[in-house]
Amino acid sequence: MKDSCNFESTLLPVDEALKKVLASLQVVAASEKRSLRNALGRVLAEAVYSAVNIPPERNASMDGYAFASADINQQAIFALTQIGTSWAGKPFTGNLAKGECVRIFTGAVVPKNADTVIMQERVKVENETIFFPAACQAQDNIRQVGEDIKQQACLLESSKRLEAVDLGLLASAGVHSVEVVRKLRVAYFSTGDELTAIGQSLQSGQIYDSNRYMLHGLLNDVSIDAVDMGVIADDKDLLKQALNSAAKDYDVIITTGGASVGEADYIKAILEELGQVNFWKIAIKPGKPLAFGNISDCVFFGLPGNPVSVMATFAKFVKPALRKLSGLAEVKPLQINAVCDSVLNKVAGRQEYQRGILRQQFDGTFVVTSAGGQGSNMLSSMSRANCYIVLPDYYTNVQVGEEVMVEPFETFI
Ligand code: AMP
Ligand code: MG
Repeated sequence: MKDSCNFESTLLPVDEALKKVLASLQVVAASEKRSLRNALGRVLAEAVYSAVNIPPERNASMDGYAFASADINQQAIFALTQIGTSWAGKPFTGNLAKGECVRIFTGAVVPKNADTVIMQERVKVENETIFFPAACQAQDNIRQVGEDIKQQACLLESSKRLEAVDLGLLASAGVHSVEVVRKLRVAYFSTGDELTAIGQSLQSGQIYDSNRYMLHGLLNDVSIDAVDMGVIADDKDLLKQALNSAAKDYDVIITTGGASVGEADYIKAILEELGQVNFWKIAIKPGKPLAFGNISDCVFFGLPGNPVSVMATFAKFVKPALRKLSGLAEVKPLQINAVCDSVLNKVAGRQEYQRGILRQQFDGTFVVTSAGGQGSNMLSSMSRANCYIVLPDYYTNVQVGEEVMVEPFETFI
């Protein structure tokens, strides 16, 4: 595959680039103990086992009456005498004899000699005499000891990101703290003499720095401590200083801009001095140039300057890398076939991630519309989009009615 602008340079396919990135990374080794409430969204550093059976005792799954199944009459209605009540939290402690039953409520312990609970709607009550229908099902409505989780069984595997339900699961086993992978420390800065901070008025030639605000959002995760290092001018010494000091304190540095080969693009030269960094031309649009490597133990991503390229290269390379560093397994993005109802312009050569708006029709089929201008500087269409339309490298223009593959953005799923 050749770069259409420079026939000498070979473009690296997206999948291969991602493989190279992931192969070079290892999970952050350090972990820390967190109480359950402070562990939401964090990644388990070790498996968690249950010290107890869940449920710990047999209990009723219905409000009703508990008795021994030997008392069931298969042919006719039968009567048993109620001798007490088992409440949730206040079990019945007496002995259940033949011909007797116990009033029982959901979650209450099933008395020793009982093995069947019949729901209250199916019985007739006359003072202490309870009438049951013929042919009740033995063993009904009883939750068995350990039927959810056996004592010593694995509750959650290592590398699990803790969701709300996981906190509940851990709490149900009485676990009050867990060992989680420590937060990733990520620093990011923008480069470019033209970049102006919001709040200041623009002079000719200047634009506002949007990339750092996107990175702020993209890195907003409880497993990440992200630090915004601001804008660094196109100045070799300043850039070198910034990279050098950040590499000492952070696991990952992400920069945007200055990574191509223009006169003011110093990142390449500096990184060749400071670390081992690959400058790849990737067969991806938007986002062709990408720098990836390390400065000592610090992982470095030099993303392109154009904001939409930042979004795409972050999604395709940085996010999977951050997932791997924090211990999470690789996930393939969800892909859906959809009928395209726009014309999409494309030349063969690079895999394109065009911005689309996906919707599902009443008959269940998916239709995708172009979100508008596809320039890598155009954030408005990126903001309108809810998916990428993924057009493989060999594709050319797409006509209305053709089927295409889309990857919904995560918030869409
Ligand atoms: P560069 O990779 O530095 O050549 O930048 C490519 C394009 O992206 C140029 O038009 C830059 O002005 C623009 N750009 C670079 N950094 C930013 C940023 N932080 N926010 C918005 N646009 C940017
Ligand atoms: Mg620049």
